[in-house]
Parts: sequence; C-alpha cells; structure tokens
Amino acid sequence: MTAYSGPVFDMAVKQFDVIADYLSIPDDARARLLMPKRAVAVSCPIHRDDGTTAVFQGYRVQHHLTLGPTKGGTRFATSVDLGEIAALAIWMSWKCALVGLPYGGAKGGINVEPLSLSRRELEALSRRYMQEMIPFVGPHTDVMAPDMGTNEQIMAWFMDTYSMYQGQTVTEIVTGKPVSAGGTLGRREATGRGVAHLVRRAADELNIRLSGTTAVVQGFGNVGSIAALELHNNGVKVIAVSDHTGALYRPGGLNIPKLIEHVAVRGSLEGYSNEVDLDPAGILSLPCDVLVPAAVERVIDAKLASTLRCRILAEGANGPTTPEADQILEKRRDEIFLIPDILCNSGGVVVSYFEWVQDLQRFFWEEEEVMRREYQVLDRAFEQVQARSRKDNVFNRTAAMAIGVERVRGAKETRGLFP
Ligand code: GLU
Repeated sequence: MTAYSGPVFDMAVKQFDVIADYLSIPDDARARLLMPKRAVAVSCPIHRDDGTTAVFQGYRVQHHLTLGPTKGGTRFATSVDLGEIAALAIWMSWKCALVGLPYGGAKGGINVEPLSLSRRELEALSRRYMQEMIPFVGPHTDVMAPDMGTNEQIMAWFMDTYSMYQGQTVTEIVTGKPVSAGGTLGRREATGRGVAHLVRRAADELNIRLSGTTAVVQGFGNVGSIAALELHNNGVKVIAVSDHTGALYRPGGLNIPKLIEHVAVRGSLEGYSNEVDLDPAGILSLPCDVLVPAAVERVIDAKLASTLRCRILAEGANGPTTPEADQILEKRRDEIFLIPDILCNSGGVVVSYFEWVQDLQRFFWEEEEVMRREYQVLDRAFEQVQARSRKDNVFNRTAAMAIGVERVRGAKETRGLFP
C-alpha cells in the first residue's frame, strides 16, 4: 500500500520497472530508488471576491534528497492530485540526474482552474500555498519553479511570501522569477529553446536539413509557443498548433510571431481565425517532420503511436507517451527518432539551476552566457544518450532514463544507508 495512485503514478512505476529490469537492479533496491522520500498535502483557504471562503487542495512531493535539494515546478490545474505530483517529482529526479544537476526531483501543485480566479484570488491562493509550504521547503531543501498554470508573477509572489516570513529577501527559494525580482535572463525561453536546440541535434544526427521541414506543436503555453517560435526562426514551417481552446492548421505554415502576439493579448489561440480547424487531439497524427507534444501527460497512447507520421518526436511535455505507446515506438525507432521528455524539456530546469546559482552568488550573467551554458549541458546529455543507445542498442527513452536512474542509484550506494 502507498499513498500514491492514479494513471500517471502507475505510468512512472511502469517506466521505472522497464529500466530497473534493463539495469538488473535487484528487487530490494527498487523501492528505495522509486518511492518518494516525503510528501505533504495542505488545504489552502482564500477569501473569494464574492465574500465566500473557498478551500483548495495543494501538494508537494520530494522524491529524493541524496544529491542536494529537491527541485521542480508547481502546477495549478484541475488534474492535480498526489499521484500525478508524485509521478512528476520522480521524473524530475531522472531529468536532473541525466543533465548532471546537484538536485533530487520534486513537484507541487494545487487542484484549481487558475483561469476561474481573479488576479487578487490567484495572488491570495499562491501566497497561502507558499505559506503552508514554509516548514517543508528552503533554498537548500526544496526549490520551486513554474509548471503548467503558473508563471513568473506567481513565482514572485512565492518568493515575496517566503521572504516576508524570513525577515529578509531570499530570492533563491524559487526559480523562474521575473528578472526584476532576482530571476535570470533566458529562463522564460529556456525550455522551448532547449526543445528546438535538441531538434536541431536530432536533425543533424539524421542528416536532415531543418530549413523547409514541417512541424506540429501541441500546446501553446510557455514551452510550446517558444519551441514553435525557435523552429520557425530556423526556417521550419510550423503547420499546426493547438491549445485547450482549439487547433490551427495551415499546410503552408503558420505565422508564429503573430500567433504569439495574439495569445499575449487574448490568453489563448481562440479567436485567431474563424476558419474551421482541426480538433486539438487530431493534430498529433498529421504528417510532419517534427512533432512536439508540449501539453499534458499521456496524450500518445498505443493506438496513436502506431499512426504517428513524424520523423522526430520531441517531447516538450512531461510524460506525453504511455508505456504501452513506448513499446510501439521502440519497434518504430528506425522511422521515428525520439527525444525523450527528461532530455527534451530539461532546458527549463537547467536554467533554473543557473538562476539558483546566480541568486546564491548575487552575481548575474549575460543572456548569451546563460544560453551558451544551457546548450553545452544539453549537448553533453544528448551525446551521452546517443552513445548509450548505440552501445546497448536500446530505445532513446531507455538510454536516457537508465543514465538518470544509474546516477541516483550510484549516489545512494556511495553514501550508504543511514544509520
Ligand atoms: N516545471 C519544469 C519541469 O517540469 C521546470 C522545473 C524547474 O525549473 O525546476 O521541468
């Protein structure tokens, strides 16, 4: 019996089991690696604008503390429950270890539809959540960041709330802050830029000239929109994008800068065009060179995996592909080059690490420096994954996860079991 359940948690367990089998990890070493170290659930009451009180459920899961503080985003979404947050925390651990960051994984969130709150209500909820988390987090214990449904402003409220309780400004408690409040240049763009950079690396690997190829991007939030823009700037025709309000499809290529302007004003893709377009789920099976799922978990299931018509699958989201779909993609690996989520979207946490380092040192870098170092970390991880997948003749996800799991396991073994 564990406190964690649900389809996303089951998925993290299944993925881990595949890797543990491949690495021949003995049964008695598995739970120590997989089960989260700590979890907290909190009730967050706020005054609504209409004078009533509403209570929202919040969570934070810290997966392992073996390599340093835990690190991970905070999600505001109606899907949030303890199982989903635990799975996302586990994935953060493999991701941080794969790219060589001195962190364990964490994730947190509130079960709420953020668009249903006024700005004042959102601020009250964000501050109350951080206040409830104070005994549990710290710059050397657990460092938060943005995820789905949260943004720089919310990170600034988190930092301010924590700092007010400490009696001094503690910028290093959270990353993804606005630059005006101790954030780093290049964090907002980091995840999307990283996705596009790794797509370039994959294209080189496959001897594809990226310019003139086509891409489909599911999700037009911080990750999807910046990835689409970067691909567009590399001469890729982004033929379809979608968000929770709908999908747009232009075989000749969409005007991504104009779409980003539209979303900045309207909050979503809705209203950009009154032409009838595809349903958002339909875009994943469009023929294209580069497919970027950058929305939620489990959108590529076994059925869809066998119909995908892309050459490069760049997982901007966390956990977009189910283990059943993986079995199919593994067989199709000569047709579809997978850039697995823990590598593909790791640019975000890599630059979060740079933000934390800059905050701790009170010494800030130029944006070029941030980008150069981000790409350096991603290149190293990409090459390690490629080398591993070639050496052992395994699927890219297996190679990436194995490197992450092995590093966590190695650290646990060297440190030993206390007491
Ligand atoms: N939420 C992001 C992720 O899933 C970023 C985490 C971070 O920057 O700490 O990787």
